[in-house]
Order: sequence, then structure tokens, then C-alpha cells
Amino acid sequence: MYYIPYSCYFVGNTLTVKINIAIDGYSSCGKSTLAKLLSQKLAYNYIDTGAMYRSVTLYLLNQGLIKDGKILRETVIDSLDKIDITFRFNSSKNQSDTYLNGVNVEDEIRSPEISSLVSGISQLREVRQKLISLQQKMGKDKGIVMDGRDIGTAVLPDAEVKFFVTAELDVRSQRRYQELKSKGYDYSFDKVKENLLERDHNDTHREENPLIQAKDAILMDNTDLTIDELVEKSYQIVQETLNKMREK
Ligand code: C5P
Repeated sequence: MYYIPYSCYFVGNTLTVKINIAIDGYSSCGKSTLAKLLSQKLAYNYIDTGAMYRSVTLYLLNQGLIKDGKILRETVIDSLDKIDITFRFNSSKNQSDTYLNGVNVEDEIRSPEISSLVSGISQLREVRQKLISLQQKMGKDKGIVMDGRDIGTAVLPDAEVKFFVTAELDVRSQRRYQELKSKGYDYSFDKVKENLLERDHNDTHREENPLIQAKDAILMDNTDLTIDELVEKSYQIVQETLNKMREK
């Protein structure tokens, strides 16, 4: 009798293999765009874990639990059970939108105000525990591309392919600056850069699951790559992994 891992199954006579792909990296390094496009190419589900931390932050802000940038920790913990985060496919955009307690918050969670508060919220152990447990459930049936800061190290340590994405700070700041400008936000380049630096510092220095490259993650520096080149390079790596698994 042959052992077939649960991520492999037959469709007719063809052995189909599904894996999980973990993508981590610094703020605005292109990981979400990569994750989105890669998931479309593979017909996998995409999970944006940053959107989940942003949604928790929006909820706390709307409830008045963040005052002058300060977080009332105990009340945050009490609120966690009231927060429900889901993703629903939006066919007109060909991507999933984030819903917070049933309301579409996809645009609201990307505001500079949420960006400036989110890394403070993501440091809280109880917040991380709740979101990591949700993310692990989402990944249990494989066929997922998930991006964030701790996916390869804490959320999906067994992911078959792990990428750690990076790009030079000025390149990342310019991309984020253009993105905000196109959405109508009046933010200077220097302010955008400052926010990225601050978030990178918080995310790499926090006690709980800091952002680090997993030992088995492949470094993808896209400072000089177009997004198409980055996607193609990653896709090739994924295909090589799938081929090796099929041969086993
Ligand atoms: O990916 P994005 O920039 O939207 O993430 C927003 C913030 O959420 C990050 O700066 C980080 O503080 C937090 N985050 C995290 N762990 C993840 C994903 C995001 O701590 N897996």
C-alpha cells in the first residue's frame, strides 16, 4: 500500500499536489502583490494576515480603546471575542475583501492612521494568539498563499515553500508613497518612509514572533525586479517543489 500525503489527491489519473506557501517580509516590500498574483496563477486561496491585524486595530480605534496612540491593554483583551474577521471574494476586483464583523473594511484598514497604530497592536500576545490560531485553521487544508511577518516561523512552520521578500527602503517608500497618492492621501515621501522604518523596527524587535527570515526561507530581493519578474521567479520555485513532490 502506498502512502499518499493528505496534500496529494487524484483527479482522474492525475496526482494533484497542494502545498502551503508562506511569504514574509518588511512593510511595503511587495509581498502582498506577490502573494496575490502567485495565488491567482496557482488557483490557491490568498490570506493577507496584515489585513487581520489592521482590522483588529480598526475595531479598537472605533471602540475608543486607543487614546492618543495609547492602547488600553486590558480592555483590548476583553474585546477580542467580539471581533470577527473574514475574507470574501469580490469578483469585480478578482480578489478578496476583508470584512470586520460583517462590514467590508478593505479600504478603511489601509489608511495611514491604521498603518501608524497597527504595529503597536500586533505586539500584544493575546492579539497574536487569536489571529495565529485563526490563520492556522485557514491553512490546514493546504492550497494557501499566506503573507505576513511570522508565517514561515510561527503560523505555518511546515509550509512547503517559504519566501522572505525584501527591497531597499527608498524603493519600498516610493512604492507606498505612490500607492497612497493614488488613493488621494496627502502624505509626504518622508512621512511614508518614517512610518515604514518605525513599523520595521517594531516588527523586528517585538518579543512575540518578531519578523525574521525563517531558516528554510528563500530570500527574494526585488529592488531591481519588476513585479512580473518576481512572480515568475517565485512561480518557478513553487513548480520545482511541486514536481519533486509528485516524483516521490
Ligand atoms: O502587511 P501589512 O503591512 O498590512 O501589516 C500591517 C502590520 O501588521 C505590520 O506592520 C505588523 O505589525 C502586523 N503584522 C504582524 N504579523 C503578521 C502580519 C502583519 O505582526 N503576520
